[in-house]
Amino acid sequence: KTFEDLGLAAPLLDGLEKAGYKTPTPIQAQSIPEILDGYDVLGAAQTGTGKTAAFALPILQLLWEDDQENRSQPRGRKRPGRRPIRALVLSPTRELSAQIESNFRIYGKKTKLRSTVIFGGVNQNPQVRELQSGVDTLVATPGRLLDLVSQGFVDLKDVEILVLDEADHMLDMGFLPDVKRILKLLPSERQNLLFSATMPGPIRKLADEILVEPVTIRI
Ligand code: AMP
Repeated sequence: KTFEDLGLAAPLLDGLEKAGYKTPTPIQAQSIPEILDGYDVLGAAQTGTGKTAAFALPILQLLWEDDQENRSQPRGRKRPGRRPIRALVLSPTRELSAQIESNFRIYGKKTKLRSTVIFGGVNQNPQVRELQSGVDTLVATPGRLLDLVSQGFVDLKDVEILVLDEADHMLDMGFLPDVKRILKLLPSERQNLLFSATMPGPIRKLADEILVEPVTIRI
């Protein structure tokens, strides 16, 4: 199968060409159509399998399609000048977060969608400025996200799609309480994607709590 066969549209196919990807990896072939159809996904996959593109591509397409629809409506639901965060990706480390966000940028180049990344251990001001300029997708480590939420710099009430990436590593690093705090700030109706190389008890329980009739994908 090609990326086109999986349901990806022209702007994303363009981004893939730039990235030099010719054939979908197994996790991409399995997850992209399901995510595009709106299903929650539980993905048991490690880094190196192409899992970042497996969620980033369909998310970009869903947001892009949403924008196409709203553009044709004279009174779209989005007020001009306001660009709410519609996709939130939580990841355990600054390195992984930065890598995920750079993938969103590469694949989404032609969509006009914007993204940014926030993580701890560095000055927050440049991150705050990026947020204030308006982003569609936010990639974040849990602690810094909560910190910026509590200061009023991030509003999560319009998030439509949540990704928990490397959930088992978030557990190992003690981020589960922060993740649960963040979940409380999101709209209850949303699409959820959870990726984890292993499924320890607390992650299985978290998956049971947040995923609604998920499609399970094992690589
Ligand atoms: P990930 O598992 O998301 O960390 O991706 C692992 C590596 O594979 C990254 O360097 C990606 O850029 C690359 N990659 C992802 N999908 C594809 C693909 N379909 N074809 C070739 N390379 C890919």
